Amino acid sequence: MKKILILVISTILPIFAFLIAILVAVMLVLDFFGSSTTDWYVKDNIAYASDYKNALNENIQNGYVPLERILYFYLSRDDLNFSKIYSDNLDTSLKRMKPISLVCSQGEYKNFAICNELELKHSNQIDEYQQKIFNKPIDFSKIAVTSFFMEQRYVFGEFDVHQAWDFAAEAQTEVMSVCDGVVEKVSFTYQENVPDTAGGLGNYIVIKCNMNEEIYKITYGHLYPNSKKVNVGDIVSGGQVIGSVGTTGYSTGNHLHYQVQLEDNSYVDGMSLIDFSDGAELPPYHEDYLPGTGLDPLF
Ligand SMILES: [Zn+2]
Repeated sequence: MKKILILVISTILPIFAFLIAILVAVMLVLDFFGSSTTDWYVKDNIAYASDYKNALNENIQNGYVPLERILYFYLSRDDLNFSKIYSDNLDTSLKRMKPISLVCSQGEYKNFAICNELELKHSNQIDEYQQKIFNKPIDFSKIAVTSFFMEQRYVFGEFDVHQAWDFAAEAQTEVMSVCDGVVEKVSFTYQENVPDTAGGLGNYIVIKCNMNEEIYKITYGHLYPNSKKVNVGDIVSGGQVIGSVGTTGYSTGNHLHYQVQLEDNSYVDGMSLIDFSDGAELPPYHEDYLPGTGLDPLF
């Protein structure tokens, strides 16, 4: 009897621990424990990558909508196109993504099953206008997004998941610091503006910024030879020009590799931190949240 009991416990306990581990992992992914510094990202995105990039490139000057928000609607009704969903989710005067319940109060979305109150509550969708803390790293009227955060892609015949953003632009387009910070690293070993399939970020600059009690480490890669405007230890301010676009390092054309990490080196969606509004003030509350409209903030 005792033996059977030990056997049962020794079998069940590891399975139980394993299930708990999975549950914790899922909760972490769903950001159950809070302190979200970025928007969501979609892990398996290869099927959506090109449609999403087209939508980004048509709308990016008016603000950023993460793929996860697009898919929230698209997976409910796949006859909608990405670009339409993207623009429907943007407040073009504030240049910010709309709160989910506001989108759901508009037009055809009202009738979507995913727009009923219960679905929204469990959706993990952002239901507020978010305050953004970064400047633009580059003039978005001069770029094309060629790779988004966590995009699955093939480069030089190899599969990778890209933990940054790539903005294609003409060589020597100005690159700006996204925040007030200190220059941590400046590496300009490439003298010619040509790719290097051996790998690497080419000429690059790393700047550390301390904002909202979070330390961000921002890497600007593939910069043009001799374009550096800063040195290690320099104090820079957001919007300050630090270098220019090139195609040095592991690159297939002139572009800025814009990568954001936290202090523990984990990667975050650098686009979700950028303020596209050019100073437009956020409203203290949205008129649709007034009592009696049936639209209350969800959290
Ligand atoms: Zn890149």
